[in-house]
Amino acid sequence: SAKHGGKQTYRLFEPKLMEAIQRRRSLEASLRRASMRNEFKIVYQPVFSSTKGQITGAEALLRWTCPQHGEISPTEFIPIAEELGLVSRIGSDVLRRACKDAAGWPEHIDLAVNVSPVQLLDPRLPQTVSQALADSGLAPERLELEITETALLNNDEAALRTLTHIRDQGVRISLDDFGTGYSSLSYLHRFPISRIKIDKSFVQKLPDDVGSASIVRAIAQLGSSLSMKITAEGIETDSQLSFIQEQGCDEVQGFLTGRPIAAADFLLLAGRTVQPVDA
Ligand code: C2E
Ligand code: MG
Ligand code: MG
Ligand code: MG
Repeated sequence: SAKHGGKQTYRLFEPKLMEAIQRRRSLEASLRRASMRNEFKIVYQPVFSSTKGQITGAEALLRWTCPQHGEISPTEFIPIAEELGLVSRIGSDVLRRACKDAAGWPEHIDLAVNVSPVQLLDPRLPQTVSQALADSGLAPERLELEITETALLNNDEAALRTLTHIRDQGVRISLDDFGTGYSSLSYLHRFPISRIKIDKSFVQKLPDDVGSASIVRAIAQLGSSLSMKITAEGIETDSQLSFIQEQGCDEVQGFLTGRPIAAADFLLLAGRTVQPVDA
């Protein structure tokens, strides 16, 4: 009967829900411990000039292996860290460590660090940034912070103040995952943003998907008319790379040109690169 069927559905559903709740609880506990002990790793994904093929920088990406659940994606644990009020602490640690690593790279190689929307609301962020620069000796011009459109939506005035303080130190701001949020062109004008990163969901459908191709073309034109740099992320194939090069994007990042690697490996890779002649 329908009643019986309904009960069965309920019984099937409940254990899965309980499992999800338990996983979440144990991740939370484990994340608290990891954050107390700084048990995170940072990997670096190289960013290349799209025309010259040289490494111009690297993006710091956080890695965490939970003792119970194994490797957890930052797309899963960063939102939990935000909810638990741990993200500022974790994010400050990433900034400090990444700046120290980058200070050991050749000077033409820049560093990009992700900043979560919640971290951007922390009024101590500009101070954390200047402290990380002072402690590492990294030139502010070599640091770029990646924020998302969500961060600008949440708290307009506070975000603008914080970003302006950071920009005034000489640090650049880029808009990550562009095109996936509540894209509003007024952000680009209102906030001190010097780079747009085209989200990989568009790049990965190139060159055949007509909609994605139009969006990428439009973002590239927008960037050039606003004098902003453009990075395309998530490039996996030669044909995606060719399309991006034809659009005049400045930089490329993706598994085709380089996966995220450990700090020691990135140092070796960076050491083998030559200083671009026109830099
Ligand atoms: P994101 O900032 O957009 O970083 C790029 C993501 O795309 C990385 O995933 C990178 O490994 C992945 N990626 C790069 N090239 C390719 C490609 O060719 N194909 C595919 N399929 N993926 C590619 P990851 O490391 O898993 O990070 C996911 C997101 O987690 C990041 O997206 C960022 O939003 C967040 N995240 C990572 N590290 C941090 C951090 O230190 N702080 C904060 N607040 N967020 C972080
Ligand atoms: Mg430079
Ligand atoms: Mg990023
Ligand atoms: Mg992105």
